[in-house]
Amino acid sequence: MTAEPIVRIAVPSPLYRHFDYLPPADHQGTIEPGVRVSVPFGRTRVNGMVLALATATDVPRGRLRRADKVLDDTPLLSEDVFAMLRWAANYYHHPPGEVFAAALPVLLRQGAPARVTHDHWRLTAAGRAVGPQALSSAPRQAAVLERLHQSPEGIAATTLRELPGDVPAALRGLRQRGLVESAPVPAGVARGSGDEPGMPPTLTEAQQHAVDSIVQAVDRFQPFLLDGVTGSGKTEVYLRVIEQVLARGRQALVLVPEIGLTPQLAQRMARRFDVPMAMLHSGLTDRARLDAWVQAREGHARIVIGTRSAVFTSLPEPGVIVIDEEHDPSFKQQEGFRYSARDLAVWRARTLGIPVILGSATPALESLHNAREGRYQRLVLEHRTGTAVLPRTGLLDVRRVPLAEGLSPALLAAIDKHLQAGDQALLFLNRRGFAPTLRCHDCGWMAQCERCDARLTVHQGGRRGTRLLCHHCGAVRGVPADCPACNSTDLATLGHGTERVEQLLAERFPGIGIARVDRDTTSRRGSLQQLMDDIHSHRKRLLIGTQMLAKGHHFPGVTLVGIVDADHGLFGADFRAGERMAQLITQVAGRAGRAARPGEVLIQTHHPEHPMLTTLLRDGYHAFAHAHMEERRQAHWPPFSHLALVRAEATGADAPMTFLESVRELAASFNSPGVDLLGPVPASMERRQGRYRAQLLLQSAQRKTLHALLAHLVPALADDKRARKVRWSVDVDPQEVL
Ligand code: ADP
Ligand code: ZN
Ligand code: ZN
Repeated sequence: MTAEPIVRIAVPSPLYRHFDYLPPADHQGTIEPGVRVSVPFGRTRVNGMVLALATATDVPRGRLRRADKVLDDTPLLSEDVFAMLRWAANYYHHPPGEVFAAALPVLLRQGAPARVTHDHWRLTAAGRAVGPQALSSAPRQAAVLERLHQSPEGIAATTLRELPGDVPAALRGLRQRGLVESAPVPAGVARGSGDEPGMPPTLTEAQQHAVDSIVQAVDRFQPFLLDGVTGSGKTEVYLRVIEQVLARGRQALVLVPEIGLTPQLAQRMARRFDVPMAMLHSGLTDRARLDAWVQAREGHARIVIGTRSAVFTSLPEPGVIVIDEEHDPSFKQQEGFRYSARDLAVWRARTLGIPVILGSATPALESLHNAREGRYQRLVLEHRTGTAVLPRTGLLDVRRVPLAEGLSPALLAAIDKHLQAGDQALLFLNRRGFAPTLRCHDCGWMAQCERCDARLTVHQGGRRGTRLLCHHCGAVRGVPADCPACNSTDLATLGHGTERVEQLLAERFPGIGIARVDRDTTSRRGSLQQLMDDIHSHRKRLLIGTQMLAKGHHFPGVTLVGIVDADHGLFGADFRAGERMAQLITQVAGRAGRAARPGEVLIQTHHPEHPMLTTLLRDGYHAFAHAHMEERRQAHWPPFSHLALVRAEATGADAPMTFLESVRELAASFNSPGVDLLGPVPASMERRQGRYRAQLLLQSAQRKTLHALLAHLVPALADDKRARKVRWSVDVDPQEVL
C-alpha cells in the first residue's frame, strides 16, 4: 500500500459505476468529495465529480490513471445536494456520472470556474460606520471588511477570494450583519424592489392557519399539501412563509412547472421583497444560468425561483422549499436522468430538516394519498378570496348538434353574450394546428408520417403557408395536390385544431382581437409575454389555446371558459388519463371569474352521462379524486403500487421485443416474489422517428422489493451484450405507461 489516496470519481458516461484515479501528480493538499476533477477517460478528457477517497481499489495499481487537474478548491455542491444526487442515482437506477452532470449548469459541466465574473461587493452605510476592530471575534470577516474599506466603489468577488480563508462564508457573515451588499446585479439575478403599493392583504382565517402551521415547522422536516382552489390565496401563503424565512436569515427555493410562470411569480415576489432573487429556467443563457446558480450557492440570492432542475441548486441557508402546481407532470424529467423534482424536493427537505410546501388546486392522487396516510399535513383553502366566487359549470351535450368547426351554437351564443358585456372569453382545445388529419374523400387515404405511427397535422399559419407536420418527430412536408393512392384531387381536412377555430372566431367576432396561445404562437422568445400583455390590456378579448392556458396564468377579465372537447380524457389508455382530464378541466375552469364578476364554464361533450364528468362537475375535483382513488386501488395502480418501466427502441422491428423478452427472463431469474412483470408489449405508438419501441412494466406493492430487483437487473443489463442492439432506459415512477 502506498500513502497516496485513491480518488473515486463519477465520470459522465452511461456506465453504472464510478472510476478510480490517482490524484494529479502536482496536487498539494487534500481532495474533498464534491469537487470537480478533469480526468483522462478512454481517449478523451472529461470532467467528473469526486465521490469519495479510498485506500483500496479493484484496479491493479499499475493500471490506475492519474487525474489531470482538480477544478474546485472547495466542494461545488452543498452537502445535502451531494447526498441527494448520490441517493437519486440509486433510486432512479441511473449512471452516477450522468446524474451529477445533469445537476450542473452547462458551463460548470464544461469545467468553467464556479464564479460570477461581474459580482461585486461593497460596504453598506452601516458597514462604512464600522471599523474592522469591531469584528475582532471574527478575524476573516474583519479582514474582508478592512479590504472593502480601502475600495469604497466595491471589489470584484474574484479579487476578494484571494484573501485567505473561506471568503464566501465571511461575506455571508458580513451580509447577515448588514455591513456589506453585493453590487451590480449579474445576469439571471434581479434585486427585488419591495415597492408593492399598499399593505399586503389581511389573511383569511384559513390562510392564517396555513401560514402559522408552516412557520411553526421552520426548524423541522414537514411536508405540507396546500390544497386550495385557484384564487384561494395559495401564493399569498407562500409569500408570508417566505417573509418569515427571510427574516430568519434563510433562503427560499420555489419550483414552478414551466418557464412562462417564472417571471410572473418572480414579479410578485420582487414587489414584496427587497432582496436579490435568482431565476433558473431553460430560457436563460448559459452564462446567466451559471451566475444565478453561483449567487444561490454563495447565499447572495435569497429567493431562488426555477423550473424542474432548480431543485439541484445548492443553498447555504435553506429555510423552505415550495412546489407550486405540484400535480404538474412537467416536474418529471422525461428523458435521460428521469427524476421527479417534486419527489426529490421532499427528500431534500427531509435531509435538511425544513418544511416543504406542495401547492395545488388539483393535487396529484399520490399527494392526496400521502396526506391521507399522514405523511403530508393537508392545509385546505376552500374559498376564493374576497368577493370572487367559483364559476358556474355546465355541460353542453353536442350529440346531433350541428357544429361549426367544433363549436356548438350554444357555446357561440355564450361567447357572444360575454363579449357584448365587455368581458373576455377563453376557449380551450388541446390540439394545435389547423386540422389533425388530411384525408382523400375518394379512397380514404390519410396523410401519415413516414417515420411514426401517426397522422400528419395540417398547419396553415405562418409565412411558410400550408404544410403537413408530424407532432411526434417534427417532420415537415408539403400538402400533395392529389391523392398519392388514387390521384383524386378531392383531399379534405378532417377535425379541427386551434388555428381552424381561430379562423372561425375571427369571422364570427370581427374586431374583437383574438389571442391564440399554443406552442406555434409562443415559440419565439418574448412572444408569450406579448400575448399575455395583449390579453391583460384587453387589446385581445377572445383567447383560444392549448394546455398552456391551463397553467397558472391569471386572466382577471375572463368570465367565460369554453372547453371544446372533454371526451379525449374519458377514454385515454393511460391509467392517469382520467386524473389528467380532471386536473385540466378544473385548472382551465379556474381561469374564469377571478375578479368580482361571476364566471361561467361550458364543457362540450358527446358523453354527458359519463360518471367521471358528472362527478367532477357536480361534486368537484376532490370527489372525483376520491372515486378515482378507489379504481386505482382495485386495479393496483399507483399510489397503491410502485412502477418502473424498461423501455427499448431500435431501427429493426423485432429487436426491442426480443431484448425485453430477455430482460423479462433475467428479471424472473432473480426470483423476486411480489414484483409482477407485465409485458413486454409494443408501445402504443410503436414506431416513432423511424424507431420501433416496446416496453416492460415492473409493478410491486412494495417499493423496497421493486428496487431490490432493479438494483440487480439494471447493472446486469448494462453489461449485457444483447443490450447493445437496442437503446434502452429505465423509468422509475413513470408518468405514462403507454
Ligand atoms: P392562488 O395562488 O391560490 O391562485 P393568489 O394568492 O394568487 O391565489 O390570490 C388570488 C388573488 O387574491 C390575488 O390577487 C391576491 O392578491 C388576492 N388575495 C390573496 N389573499 C387575499 C386576502 N387574504 N384578502 C384579499 N385578497 C387576497
Ligand atoms: Zn385517394
Ligand atoms: Zn413523425
